[in-house]
Amino acid sequence: MKPAPFRYHAPKTVEEAVATLAQVAGEDGRVLAGGQSLVPIMAFRLARPAHLVDINNIESLGRLALDDGKLSIGACVRHAAFHRPVAEGPLGKLLAAVVRHIAHYPIRTRGTFCGSVAHADPASEWCLVAATLDGEMVARSARGTRVIAAKDFFQGIMTTALAEDELLTEVRLPILAADTRFGFYEFSRRAGDFAIAMALVTFRLQNGVIAEPRIGVGGAEPCPRRIAQAEAALAGRAPDAEAFKAAAAAASAAVDAMEDATTSADYRRDLVGTVTRRALEQA
Ligand SMILES: Cc1cc2nc3c(=O)[nH]c(=O)nc-3n(C[C@H](O)[C@H](O)[C@H](O)COP(=O)(O)OP(=O)(O)OC[C@H]3O[C@@H](n4cnc5c(N)ncnc54)[C@H](O)[C@@H]3O)c2cc1C
Repeated sequence: MKPAPFRYHAPKTVEEAVATLAQVAGEDGRVLAGGQSLVPIMAFRLARPAHLVDINNIESLGRLALDDGKLSIGACVRHAAFHRPVAEGPLGKLLAAVVRHIAHYPIRTRGTFCGSVAHADPASEWCLVAATLDGEMVARSARGTRVIAAKDFFQGIMTTALAEDELLTEVRLPILAADTRFGFYEFSRRAGDFAIAMALVTFRLQNGVIAEPRIGVGGAEPCPRRIAQAEAALAGRAPDAEAFKAAAAAASAAVDAMEDATTSADYRRDLVGTVTRRALEQA
């Protein structure tokens, strides 16, 4: 099928883009970034936006840089930018390990990090990264700029704190300390499919015990999130099989797993334990 008719806008600056959004947001005006989620749903007429505000000509949104201990990822930075480490140390390696699980190569050359975060699919790998590392989302509109913490940003399946007239201009991730260990494990039925469940973990070792654990789970609930009970089960313990098993069991017990036509909630809850344990073993 072909999309329903729409008006196309191609601003050259962020100011122009947010001014256009202010005018068209009320008539279902949408931002077009990589188009890898929006265009298919328009082609199926599941979405019929009256206006598209294409941000691909805005040069400043291609910025990917380190600022004050944070990695700033501009709205037009594609998934493929992360195929090689974009920062020294564990953060660059973590992003490079995660990106290869996102869709397929051609999609990664077009789709954007910020587009994934704005789209907020429960099984988006970048949303899990933002939630686990407590990323910050920078939202800009004609009314001004605000910074939204990840825990407040993700609000439900494909639902975020972004207002209709707001452009997500960048996502900021904290640079990880050089001795941070990380592990990422996802389960999907075929390579390139969305995850049924996935876990991202980071921790440091101090005097042989686990410090600053972060355990994030995605794909299992409407939004990815850190699982405090699993982190508590890990903190202060030696990184051994017993500790990993305890944290995995705590993660599994804490999630309110989603159910769909092919995957029961019980199966998904069980899978959360497995992906958490495997991510910890990797770390
Ligand atoms: C076959 C297939 C498999 C896929 N598998 C995966 C996968 O395994 N994991 C995964 O995470 N993704 C997957 N995707 C989705 C892909 O990663 C998309 O690139 C991503 O979800 C959206 O990014 P985009 O830049 O293409 O956004 P678009 O498609 O352009 O936009 C998506 C939505 O976000 C809004 N939006 C985009 N950018 C902004 C912004 N800066 N500010 C405000 N709103 C914005 C748009 O208005 C739209 O509503 C898959 C897609 C396909 C087609």
